[in-house]
Amino acid sequence: MKTLVLVEHDGNVVKDATLATVAAAAQLGEVHLLVAGSGVGAVATAAAAITGAGKVHVADAAHLEHQLAEDVAPIAAALMGHHDAFLACSTTTGKNIAPRVAALLDVMQISDIMSVEGEDIFTRPIYAGNAIATVKSKDAKKVITVRGTAFEKVSRDGGSGTVEAVDAGGASGKSSFVGAELSKSERPELTSAKIIVSGGRALGSSEQFHALIDPLADKLGAGVGASRAAVDAGYAPNDYQVGQTGKIVAPEVYMAIGISGAIQHLAGMKDSKVIIAINKDEDAPIFQVADIGLVGDLFKIVPELTEKL
Ligand code: FAD
Repeated sequence: MKTLVLVEHDGNVVKDATLATVAAAAQLGEVHLLVAGSGVGAVATAAAAITGAGKVHVADAAHLEHQLAEDVAPIAAALMGHHDAFLACSTTTGKNIAPRVAALLDVMQISDIMSVEGEDIFTRPIYAGNAIATVKSKDAKKVITVRGTAFEKVSRDGGSGTVEAVDAGGASGKSSFVGAELSKSERPELTSAKIIVSGGRALGSSEQFHALIDPLADKLGAGVGASRAAVDAGYAPNDYQVGQTGKIVAPEVYMAIGISGAIQHLAGMKDSKVIIAINKDEDAPIFQVADIGLVGDLFKIVPELTEKL
């Protein structure tokens, strides 16, 4: 089986999400990659070095600078003439492009796979991760999104793929790039952070969120996350949200501070290796998944912990 993996990148660097997607694709067969963008020679070279990389198809054109899904999807769909499966990570980018590829090929998308059980059998979470479904696809061409935390990332080196230019098509004109407001942070990105410190509604305000959570995260070299309630209340930015409608993470250590542990939050973090919860309510559901639990007032515990570290 020949697979085509969408390479996620920022114009310079291949994102970690791609490495997990390649791991999933390698279980299906030969791994080819698609790099779409403008001036992406360095990305293509980096993609060719990924372990297991075969051919790297490069669509390099000015109109692809912002990798608009409407422009990238037709390129992937055209390449699917000689590939059997298209795989993208279940990130904002992957989830934007893959359904369009599926629609262009007139096939069902297989979303958020957690394992490859056979060349047409996969497992995927349903009911916010409370049940795992095993699904079989009858489509000849498969379009798949991959849950990045479920696959061990392959190495960025060791591959010896060949780079090949492909037709970049033209701008679809269906959408145009207006602007991007990117949050800049020195802290590790949530989906690749080894440690995450997350705050919930209990923090009470944006000021208190940042005054308590940020110093602890900085001491630990951790990424900062938040519950949806904290995000909705404006205590933390949107891209901090962990959960069913936020980011799915599985770090070595996840600290949930003043977070009750609603199923929609657990859906995004329960695969973390060690979960530490701080909550004043000993019956809070978060303690059912926590490996270490501290019952008490976070406004006392967190500053003390930060100081001792
Ligand atoms: P709360 O549930 O209000 O919990 C606050 C906790 O803080 C309580 O357990 C309380 O005991 C504790 N506390 C209070 N004061 C202190 C103190 N001083 N010291 C210590 N502990 C204290 N939620 C997500 O997080 N991510 C999602 O992606 C998400 N998606 C959703 C999708 C849908 C369709 C729906 C319906 C909901 C979704 N939610 C999501 C919301 C979710 O159901 C919860 O409402 C939310 O997770 C609650 O956030 P919280 O734990 O911060 O707040």
